[in-house]
Amino acid sequence: MIEHSVSALSQALAARKISSVELTQLYLERIARHNPTINAFITVDAEKSLAQARAADQLRSIGQAGPLTGIPLAQKDIFCTRGWLTTCGSKILGNFISPYDACVIEHFNSAGAVILGKTNMDEFAMGSSNETSYYGAVNNPWDMERVPGGSSGGSAAAVAARLAPAATGTDTGGSIRQPAALCNLTGLKPTYGVVSRYGMIAFASSLDQAGPMAHSAEDCALLLNTMAGFDERDSTSLDRPREDFSAQLKAATGEKPLAGLKIGLPKEFFGTDERSGCSPEVMQLVEAALAEYRKLGAESVDISLPNMKLSVPAYYVIAPAEASSNLSRFDGVRYGYRAPEYGDLNEMYARSRAQGFGAEVKRRILIGTYVLSHGYYDAYYLQAQRIRRLIANDFVAAFSQCDVIMGPTSPSTAFKLGEKAADPVQMYLSDIYTIAVNLAGLPGMSIPCGFCKGLPAGLQLIGDYFSEARLLDIAHRYQTVTGWHLQHPAGFD
Ligand code: GLN
Repeated sequence: MIEHSVSALSQALAARKISSVELTQLYLERIARHNPTINAFITVDAEKSLAQARAADQLRSIGQAGPLTGIPLAQKDIFCTRGWLTTCGSKILGNFISPYDACVIEHFNSAGAVILGKTNMDEFAMGSSNETSYYGAVNNPWDMERVPGGSSGGSAAAVAARLAPAATGTDTGGSIRQPAALCNLTGLKPTYGVVSRYGMIAFASSLDQAGPMAHSAEDCALLLNTMAGFDERDSTSLDRPREDFSAQLKAATGEKPLAGLKIGLPKEFFGTDERSGCSPEVMQLVEAALAEYRKLGAESVDISLPNMKLSVPAYYVIAPAEASSNLSRFDGVRYGYRAPEYGDLNEMYARSRAQGFGAEVKRRILIGTYVLSHGYYDAYYLQAQRIRRLIANDFVAAFSQCDVIMGPTSPSTAFKLGEKAADPVQMYLSDIYTIAVNLAGLPGMSIPCGFCKGLPAGLQLIGDYFSEARLLDIAHRYQTVTGWHLQHPAGFD
């Protein structure tokens, strides 16, 4: 059963080859066996999961099952989940049992999906390696001495080791796509506003967006069908007609199934600038994937995103600025960690935050407070916002020349645990290819495109606004003629 995709599991459940209780049990057993070494989950609660599975089987018995009814899924611990510990990877929320569900969780619950557990993540989603989690690093199932990527590293490792058939992630600067690339998964960050942020613990609100992480584009489409939709509780949620992302997927058939598709290749991705430079091994795999797309009939056009090089500096002003404001709510008063000893109220705030937040979170709060302060606001924050606009304009110009942009997701394959932990700038540069997409609010995907020295690499697909269905289809056609996404790490059978 663990070989099955979400869509195959859905069929097996519909055909009564297995019940949701049996399936959930199977995954819970795998988690019990492998999680102690991988550390992909922060919280597992078999009783709660099995109760949901029983309810799903019940729904099926009265003929009310949908495609995700009874499917066990891993949920990133950034989503408030009623009755579950919801930590966001932080000590400061180490005792927080959420009294309500995030919109994404509500959607999965009403679809009858089962929550298998809450996955590990960088603290408040700040990181690219999962090493900033208060709950310990996550090991990459492809090489246990390496990082799974971040911040959705727990979700990525869980799906890669098949401790869950699929998972949710969130992506503020690359946190779905980069871990997907490092763990051989397919991950999609939708257009900003397509998935509600209600109940998703905020990092940088103008950039945060939730999306699916799975083995295939087909499975991502199934999950996105449930996740997407207007929600009036999120003021940036977009009221658009519902789409069936699964129905729009087509297999690659005939001579040139992608004839006429124009793939834009930004010279900034394929250049030799050493700061943004992609490792030659990853680049070779990206080139091979592009060759595959040409066989399917696609053409490539050279494009340019001239302001792309400013995306990391602009992001590291805007994201910390928003984070410093968002994280001011964690003060030890109403919920979360409170320092055990303090004198007056101010000392209670200061100690709770000093003890509750980790180093990376503190660094971001300091940067954010600084760039928003009087005298620096114009010099940093306003400039960064202007650059953000220029970057978005670059994409508008690019999409007048091409239908989709392709390139590497991450400049390297999974790096060693500890390798970049002491050098924040090196760590920040691991998102060099993904961050501009968030600044522009565009949809982006990462799909498996091969291996170097046994480690997976990802091909990034960037689409125009609301082109999720198109991106999923372009990915799906590649996946009907290639088998990279079907490869699994050894040792987790
Ligand atoms: N790695 C980036 C950061 O640390 C992006 C994280 C994310 O997308 N949540 O901010």
